[in-house]
Amino acid sequence: MSIADNLLKYKSELEEQGIKLVAVSKHQPAEAVLEAYNAGQRVFGENLVQEMADKQAQLPSDIEWHLIGHLQTNKVKYIAPFVKLIESVDSLKLLKEINKQALKNNRVIDCLLQIYIADEDTKFGLGFDEAIELLRSDEFQELKNIRITGLMGIATNTALEGQTKAEFQELKVLFDGIKVSFFRKEESFKEISMGMSSDYKLAIEQGSTMVRIGSNIFGKRVIKHWKA
Ligand SMILES: *Cc1c(COP(=O)(O)O)cnc(C)c1O
Repeated sequence: MSIADNLLKYKSELEEQGIKLVAVSKHQPAEAVLEAYNAGQRVFGENLVQEMADKQAQLPSDIEWHLIGHLQTNKVKYIAPFVKLIESVDSLKLLKEINKQALKNNRVIDCLLQIYIADEDTKFGLGFDEAIELLRSDEFQELKNIRITGLMGIATNTALEGQTKAEFQELKVLFDGIKVSFFRKEESFKEISMGMSSDYKLAIEQGSTMVRIGSNIFGKRVIKHWKA
């Protein structure tokens, strides 16, 4: 099946359920993104700053770019003018830098807090306690150019469905708790970004509002090392 065929299949399946689709185009050439765009997709996820900035410069301006990979503070400035959602905020230090760059660009940048739910050493993210500590801090309260619109999590890469399900469930429980404690009045705090090609169905069963699907749409990732 072509990229367009895959995309349309996911779009209709997800839209029926009111779930947002982030098409993860990392390590795919701009032409592949354009094929999905021409099939109607507008939201794309990238995990590298340079790759996202390069594609943003070449592709239609109404694309909504989501950063889904680990973000270094010194690189925030390259995406601050255009990024639609930073899904991978994993420290107060990073959030402060995003706020600073958003202010410079005279905008408010939407962010998700990335929560560590996996049973693996390699994944970035805030622990449950760290997320709550961040939200409670006075420094956080002072940031006016960022808006937290939800949480993001990556489950363990495992064939054990029970484990994946439990990890997604934990994220949903944390989301509900944070919503009540910190964002009771903010309707904008509503996203739970969880689920990828291999586990999006489980994620949706556990309350995901946004899934990030790459390989099932685009096939194998073709570019190993992005060059500007
Ligand atoms: C690569 C990636 C995805 C997409 O993974 P697929 O298995 O290709 O669907 C989703 N989320 C994050 C954070 C990623 O880095």
